[in-house]
Amino acid sequence: MNASLKYQGLIAACGMNCGLCIGYLREKKPCGGCFKIDDPHKPTACRSCKIVNCEYLAATGSGFCYDCEKYPCTRLKNLDQRYRLKYGMSMIDNLAHIKMHGLESFLENEEERWKCSECGAGLCVHRDFCLNCKADPNLSA
Ligand code: SF4
Ligand code: SF4
Ligand SMILES: [Zn+2]
Repeated sequence: MNASLKYQGLIAACGMNCGLCIGYLREKKPCGGCFKIDDPHKPTACRSCKIVNCEYLAATGSGFCYDCEKYPCTRLKNLDQRYRLKYGMSMIDNLAHIKMHGLESFLENEEERWKCSECGAGLCVHRDFCLNCKADPNLSA
C-alpha cells in the first residue's frame, strides 16, 4: 500500500471515511477517527456505535461490513440512508468500491473526490463549503 495515501487508516468498518468528518477536521479537540479506540475526543455516538462494536465484525476477514453474512444489515442500511439523503455520500457504495477494486483504489479515489477545486484542501462531508478557503464546492466544481 502506498504510504502517502491521505486517508489511510481512516476508513471505518461501515465504509465511513473518518477523514471527511467534522469531528476529525475540527481544530478544537479533534477526534482521531474510528480506529482510535480510546480517543477522549470521540463523541459518545461513535464510542457506542453499534457497527464498530458489532459482534459479527470480528468474523469478517477484511474487517469491513461487506464481508459479513448479514450484510447489509438494517443498522448499516439506516446509516447509509441518512448519509445519502443528508450528505450525498453512501457507505454501501464505498464498501462496494473497496470490495471490487481494493482499499488502495478507494483511498486514491477519495482523495480526488473530496479535494477542494479552489484550494486543493480536503473537504468535509458534513459541511457544504471548504473549511480551508470557504469556497462552495458545488459552485466551483
Ligand atoms: S466522530 Fe466518529 S465518524 Fe467522526 S472521525 Fe470520529 S469516529 Fe469517525
Ligand atoms: S453488516 Fe454485519 S458486521 Fe456490519 S454492522 Fe451489520 S451485522 Fe455487524
Ligand atoms: Zn478550498
